[in-house]
Amino acid sequence: MSNPFENAMSQLDKAAKIMDLDKGVYEVLKQPERVLTVSVPVKMDNGEVKVFTGYRSQYNNTLGPYKGGIRYHWNVSLDEVKALSFWMMVKCATVNIPMGGGKGGIIVNPKEMSEGEIERLSRGYVQKVWRNIGSDKDVPAPDVYTTPQIMSWMRSEYEKLVGHDDPGVITGKPIEDGGSEVRGYSTAQGGVYCVLELANKMSMTPADTKVAIQGFGNAGSFMAKILSEKGYNVVAVSDSRGAIKGSALDIEKLEAFKKETGSVVGFEGTEELTNEEILELDVDILVPAALENVITADNAQQIKAKAVVELANGPTTPEADEILKEKGIVVVPDVLANAGGVTVSYFEWDQNVKGEHWSEEDILERLERIMVDAFNEVWDTKEKYSIDMRTAAFVKAIERVGEGLKKTLI
Ligand code: GLU
Repeated sequence: MSNPFENAMSQLDKAAKIMDLDKGVYEVLKQPERVLTVSVPVKMDNGEVKVFTGYRSQYNNTLGPYKGGIRYHWNVSLDEVKALSFWMMVKCATVNIPMGGGKGGIIVNPKEMSEGEIERLSRGYVQKVWRNIGSDKDVPAPDVYTTPQIMSWMRSEYEKLVGHDDPGVITGKPIEDGGSEVRGYSTAQGGVYCVLELANKMSMTPADTKVAIQGFGNAGSFMAKILSEKGYNVVAVSDSRGAIKGSALDIEKLEAFKKETGSVVGFEGTEELTNEEILELDVDILVPAALENVITADNAQQIKAKAVVELANGPTTPEADEILKEKGIVVVPDVLANAGGVTVSYFEWDQNVKGEHWSEEDILERLERIMVDAFNEVWDTKEKYSIDMRTAAFVKAIERVGEGLKKTLI
């Protein structure tokens, strides 16, 4: 299994060579500024005490407060959290928002816990990290298996500890707790703006475009829904239990089916596939929307899509990137394709610190502008240097971080 932090660093190296990156800046960017490792004791419902390990990696705050989600997953590791915080730094700089890069995680399987246990774990985590977060320091948010409700518990615990209101300490909150109407579907919405720009560049029309989406969580399911509303043919999707393939799936019906049965597998008129097979389907656009390291040197040769739009973080390894490039497959990288989530988080934070509330329409308009500008900037950079879009995004992002960073090096 490839190590996500090593992958992230080889992406950095690749961009550093092309842009002839300042040596000092390069040295600074090779590790996070600060990493917290915490032990969080939780009294379980049966009275036993279990201790969970959590992390918060603060990679770089040159452009603004550290920003990035907190993941609850059994496979969380320090190297994963470090990689994800590095990608957050690159992501915020790619779309040019004034935030730095951070990420947190807890090694836990939330599916095996009651609501009360999850609340105690979430509050317990904040009790360990609160001195290092805050709307002007580090602003967490949801990620894999963390929800608006969890953000709300964390905000309330933080405010209890610091003794004052600070709604901008965390984003992705429920709407009634200072959240944004768009945050729930913002990652997918940002990905859709990328697909529309890509379709322009590659002359693809919705009706003739087949899409496969690996992962039917928050990002993947909204992506399926919005793309099918726009006339794209979403022909295959998957979740942790397996994958299905049909023709232009009815996403609303599929969502209801998943709610009822717990999985997309078994949906009427579809054929069952494995989570590996869905990646190799003969489609136009492939959207990995689950976890890291799914497109690797082992399967990249078999990918048939014309484009890969990375809604997940880190789904493609550096070796696979090379293979895809050789095959002429365009990869819209995670740091651009899924940046809609953090962009709307930034809007939420901005409203919270200013005491404002923006309309859904206003937010979508701002999001579209940011995503379209970033997409075109990355696309033009890719054309200019004949590089892939990931390296192009890194070049632009690291230019921005590097300029600010150089001034701080004494
Ligand atoms: N977890 C999301 C990401 O990986 C969003 C982070 C945020 O909103 O701060 O981009």
